[in-house]
Amino acid sequence: MIDWGLGLLIVLAGAMASITAVLIKWAAEARRRTAASVVLFLLAMMTAMLGGALVYLVRPGTTGLVDGLWLASAAMSVSVFPVFRVFLIDAREQAQRGEAYRPALVARRGVFGLAVLGFVVVNELLMGWLFQLATGVLTPSAASSAAALLVLGVNSPWFLFPMALEMGLTAYLLRGALPRPFVGLLLAQAAVMFLSPPAFASTTGVSLVVGLSGAGMIGVIIFVMEFLYRHRQLAPVTSGYFLGLMAIYAVMMAGLYTWLVYGDGLLFAASVLLEMALFFDAVVRPERFSDGPGLPWQLRPGWTFGVLAAIFVGELFMGAVLDLAIEPTVYGGAFPSLPVAGDVGTIAYNALYNGFWFVAAVAGSTWFLAMMGLEMGTLVAFKFRETRSRENKIRMGLMMGSYALFATFFPSVYYPALFPNAPSGSSVPVLGWSMGLGSAPIVPSLFLVIFLSYAITGSLSVLFGRRVVCSVFCTAPLMYQGTTIDAMSSFNRSSPVAHKYLGSRFSKLYSATTGVTMASLVAVSSLSFLDQSGRISVSFLGADPSVFFFALSFGVLWFLLFVTIPYTGNFNCVTMGWCYTGTIAAAFGRLGFFKLKVRDRAVCQRCTTLDCAKKCPVGLVDMPGHFRQYGEFRSSKCCGVGSCVDACPYGNLYIHDVRHWIAQRWAKRREPPFEQRLPMLRATAQPLAGPTPTAAAPRP
Ligand code: SF4
Ligand code: SF4
Repeated sequence: MIDWGLGLLIVLAGAMASITAVLIKWAAEARRRTAASVVLFLLAMMTAMLGGALVYLVRPGTTGLVDGLWLASAAMSVSVFPVFRVFLIDAREQAQRGEAYRPALVARRGVFGLAVLGFVVVNELLMGWLFQLATGVLTPSAASSAAALLVLGVNSPWFLFPMALEMGLTAYLLRGALPRPFVGLLLAQAAVMFLSPPAFASTTGVSLVVGLSGAGMIGVIIFVMEFLYRHRQLAPVTSGYFLGLMAIYAVMMAGLYTWLVYGDGLLFAASVLLEMALFFDAVVRPERFSDGPGLPWQLRPGWTFGVLAAIFVGELFMGAVLDLAIEPTVYGGAFPSLPVAGDVGTIAYNALYNGFWFVAAVAGSTWFLAMMGLEMGTLVAFKFRETRSRENKIRMGLMMGSYALFATFFPSVYYPALFPNAPSGSSVPVLGWSMGLGSAPIVPSLFLVIFLSYAITGSLSVLFGRRVVCSVFCTAPLMYQGTTIDAMSSFNRSSPVAHKYLGSRFSKLYSATTGVTMASLVAVSSLSFLDQSGRISVSFLGADPSVFFFALSFGVLWFLLFVTIPYTGNFNCVTMGWCYTGTIAAAFGRLGFFKLKVRDRAVCQRCTTLDCAKKCPVGLVDMPGHFRQYGEFRSSKCCGVGSCVDACPYGNLYIHDVRHWIAQRWAKRREPPFEQRLPMLRATAQPLAGPTPTAAAPRP
């Protein structure tokens, strides 16, 4: 049966949201004081009407009705005075100056914007409470405190849906006043607001909504990241908006987590209000977004760090929320929550335990990795389109495929299907290369796996260099290689800390970090062995030492390094030597065929761009010197990303590995050595004392 009452309320809510959107548009366009005061008057009228109706619904009956009517009429009457006052003041001042009446300009648009924002928030809250009371979802006695009242008002469909409609309509109405890409962002924000899971709490499709809302947020983050790549200089308002939005999304995701796990919606409600404030403050004064160019963000490590940190925190909670919503049977209870109570020592330990294992567990979980893969993989796909070298394109394809297989498909789909009762891979003490040197009493079948893991990865590193691990198999390069993060390689040269790790030489700092990492690996492996064989009993934060070390290295430390790229440079797990897997791969790679070679040393000697060094994400700034002197360059830190190959404007550079070695051997067998060739052939094959190289020189 059609519920006409509910239908009427929906129409009413839609109409109120539409009227508010139109008023916000007027506010954005109001330059004169009378126009601005009329907008405020109309918003105040809405507040008065909603307030009066609320009084009646809280106290139904004649008294409530009379009080409500009084309140509404009094508020409406009072709100008309400022309009007349503004008009009279302007008229009097202009008459005193002997001028014809013309409304004065709004002097303080910031204050006006705040007033509009205040009315919009209050009206939305009133609407949220009012419509819930009208539908009987809320009773006047339901709220025990101001915070509970706020949560009941904000986290309801009667607040969130009209709010989303208001945001979407406002963005549409103001599309001509805002920069075009920004309109898309605002519309996407409206869509994410519409998909707020608490608004769907009474339906059965919450997990679907969580997924869709997560997808929307990922879309927004990708947009922001790509925008940064394409706009290296940002106006202060734009950069402030992006930072604010990412921080609010982090709070929103944390709020969604606390709502889902603990049933506490306060943080989520607070994030919704913050987003409203950010959004409407932006659209009420759209002219600020057209301000001239601002500072290059690549010279603002603090701001860039803020954006990365906010994105990471948001993604961490988003990953946890997706895990819980999509696979509650797998992840329900998987995230630690020791009681943070007791004496100071217990509180500190339990808080550390909860925090550490939450980050490590989520960072290794299916949906976090899938979400990161989607987000960072999209940025890599953008980079792929710009990449010229075929070899590099193939490597990027392999890298994306490896991420999909090793980060999500095998650990989360294939192995659980094959061995439903096996413990998660990250909680088994010995898994070979990625887990360290091997420590527990070794089951023969496991030993074979460990041995094969070393043999295959080691051999591939010998043949093709460290890039097999550090720019294909590992999940890290996918995060580093997308457009925006790759652009952050500029911090390798500008940041004081990253500067200490520049170049191929092993600085004291690099030797120290690598030494600590490798010594820790040996120590935890030995401890784990002694523990597993029953000779001692030792655990770190409740886990086997090697399991803990794996979680620390790849679940916590690596992400810490990632968000500190603005201070420590891109590919900092490689440049700083914090990763034992990379260090072992580098040691094998050093034994093999991998190096960078140039086709003609003379070209490098005359080169003034040094683009190869500028584009190196690992900061190997000394490579041109080696090319000029030896025609080749070897470094344990080089992980074969190939940005230098792509960057060289003369196509003079290539990556040499076992394929070239075989080709050379083969060619030698088929062709006589140079000095045995006929004199005329020798003459044509002589390197020419050529002119200064040009960018248009064809690739051999
Ligand atoms: S150093 Fe370690 S974390 Fe970094 S890319 Fe290499 S294997 Fe991955
Ligand atoms: S490899 Fe290319 S960019 Fe680098 S020094 Fe040589 S010519 Fe210049």
